[in-house]
Amino acid sequence: MLSTEETFHRLAAVSNLQVSQCVPLSRYTRFGIGGPADIYAETREVEAFIAALEIARSSGLEFVVIGGGTNLIVSDSGFRGVVLRFVADRLTAAGSRVVSDAGVVLQDLIDFCIERGLKGLETLSGIPGWVGAAVYGNAGAYGHSISERVHSVRFLDSGKVRVFDNEKCRFRYRESAFKDHKEWIILSMELILDPSEAAVLRKTADDILKIRNEKFPPTMKCAGSIFKNFLLVDLPPAVASQVPPATIREGKVPAAYFLEQIGAKGMIRGDIHVADYHANLIYNAGSGSARDLRGLIGELKTRVRDRFGIEVEEEVQYVGQLTD
Ligand SMILES: Cc1cc2nc3c(=O)[nH]c(=O)nc-3n(C[C@H](O)[C@H](O)[C@H](O)COP(=O)(O)OP(=O)(O)OC[C@H]3O[C@@H](n4cnc5c(N)ncnc54)[C@H](O)[C@@H]3O)c2cc1C
Repeated sequence: MLSTEETFHRLAAVSNLQVSQCVPLSRYTRFGIGGPADIYAETREVEAFIAALEIARSSGLEFVVIGGGTNLIVSDSGFRGVVLRFVADRLTAAGSRVVSDAGVVLQDLIDFCIERGLKGLETLSGIPGWVGAAVYGNAGAYGHSISERVHSVRFLDSGKVRVFDNEKCRFRYRESAFKDHKEWIILSMELILDPSEAAVLRKTADDILKIRNEKFPPTMKCAGSIFKNFLLVDLPPAVASQVPPATIREGKVPAAYFLEQIGAKGMIRGDIHVADYHANLIYNAGSGSARDLRGLIGELKTRVRDRFGIEVEEEVQYVGQLTD
């Protein structure tokens, strides 16, 4: 196993890779929470990224690839290893096919498609973060998910570039083959969209953005919904029968329904709050910690389990020690 110092020096020797030590991850998370990463490295170049991943992997240190940091809870003690970001952000279009690098901001991809009169992503407007993580977590909103438009995904598997078609990506609700294989790192994807009228698409996107900005003010330090919604078919019949039919949307039961029943709205731990208008929205009101965030999440999970006998499952991803 290599030491942190040795790993840093090897990474620093890779061309086109920007490498730093002891970088506060709170800078890279929308929660504004997270201690230092021992090593942080980023690049726009595939070759440099492959080299960096290889060094990180063979060092024996832990490593993680992050994107825009909008769905992460990073430990207060940070990350003892290497944090990598692939920041390539090229976008190209040929007819109704669009290719996007993993480091493109999702909203930039959506706007790019809208400007070209390409329909299919506009309902995802306002979902923060980058394209790579949107594919990883099959991001979606308003009844649609990115998977509906993904034609193929290019990714790294043990230093080799592979391509999966849509079927091989095994997309499910907020899940994908890439979430099942966290060692696979997404480089880019190709989408197929439908020709449409740019002005109509723009209006759909703007209407959604307006609603979303009220629910999630752009400066709010949060991760959107903390917990995944439930598929009605997955709920035990005794629990499903308690859910008012008006609450069920597109076959899903919002986790917020169960959280409301156990009094989540307005709960506070330190500087971490559950929004008083949305039981599945937790935010950092100022100088909140990962410890309090995890504590509050744990309390909500326990209360739902005790009352309904079901597990609410985090949509957010954890980085670093869980023992803060
Ligand atoms: C206000 C707000 C509203 C939100 N609303 C929605 C919503 O409506 N629908 C929805 O689906 N999500 C929503 N989210 C969650 C979040 O925006 C998505 O999960 C988004 O896709 C995360 O992107 P990111 O780049 O910030 O990923 P990060 O938070 O940086 O990472 C998330 C995960 O992706 C992995 N990852 C990142 N890049 C790669 C890569 N290149 N290859 C492989 N794995 C990778 C990371 O390891 C990590 O596990 C919301 C978040 C916020 C803050």
